[in-house]
Amino acid sequence: MRFGAFGVATWVLAAVSTTGVCGAQARSNGISGQAVLKLTQEYVDAAPKRYVGSEGHMAAEKFIKDHFKPEAAKGNFVVDEFVARSTPAGPFTMRNLIVKFPSAGPAKKDGVIVLASHYETNFPLKDINFVGANDGACTSALLIALGQYYREHPPTGYSVWLVFTDGEEAIANWSASDSLYGTRHLAAKWSGDGTLPKIKAFILADMIGWKQMKIDRENNSTPWLEDLLTKAAKDTGHSNYISSQGQAIEDDHLPFKQRGVPVLDVIDYEYGTPSNPEAYHHTVQDTMDKLSAQSLQVSADLFLDLVKLVNTH
Ligand SMILES: [Zn+2]
Repeated sequence: MRFGAFGVATWVLAAVSTTGVCGAQARSNGISGQAVLKLTQEYVDAAPKRYVGSEGHMAAEKFIKDHFKPEAAKGNFVVDEFVARSTPAGPFTMRNLIVKFPSAGPAKKDGVIVLASHYETNFPLKDINFVGANDGACTSALLIALGQYYREHPPTGYSVWLVFTDGEEAIANWSASDSLYGTRHLAAKWSGDGTLPKIKAFILADMIGWKQMKIDRENNSTPWLEDLLTKAAKDTGHSNYISSQGQAIEDDHLPFKQRGVPVLDVIDYEYGTPSNPEAYHHTVQDTMDKLSAQSLQVSADLFLDLVKLVNTH
């Protein structure tokens, strides 16, 4: 992600309780934040460096695929492979990974809710020890956990598709042509094959595992979806994790927004210290110790509730 053209981050001290309403313990009717944290650790261990074209990137793909064997057996795990031909470092083969959970009724609705996260790490950081614990890893783990949930509790309204996006990060310097490779490709493809009008909401997770998480209002997101995020936070008792302040962020939701899809970026773009709010972003300090099961619990609760709310919107 990148801050929008006029973006100047305003540091909001995250006034979060360590003993949140829901706690980090396993939940009988939802997703355990502790389990998401464990999955994140396993993902980072399996594929610490996941920049495009690397062995670690392939290990990341395998890790994700291995968690969706039942869906693959049903033909509901789709690899969307394409070549990004003109990156600053030459052509790269990239792959978006899509997992489909069709609605099982009885209130089956014609339409799809997409939940997305990028799974690769930043190519320009390939020579430093950058693992992207908060930036890409924890939200990939969150999507895997959401998939495990929907395997056991199939969607009853709209279908739910998970999209692990590739090539979100710039290969050299962020620009309209050097960023968002995977989602630019997928939005164009789905526009061409008639899928796009079926997408009722494209909901993106980015950098929402930090222990001092405060989710921002993101001004490129569709207002009614931002309002649903506020409602989801209220419903789940997590309003203290949501900020009323925000700015526009360039992220994987943009290619879908530009084609008229309702979009929501659930993001905490501040990730650092009071004196340097982005100190950990795209640095070797984006490590597992920055995350907490409680923040991942909040994120999981919000995503599950958002899907319910979109269904009744
Ligand atoms: Zn990043």
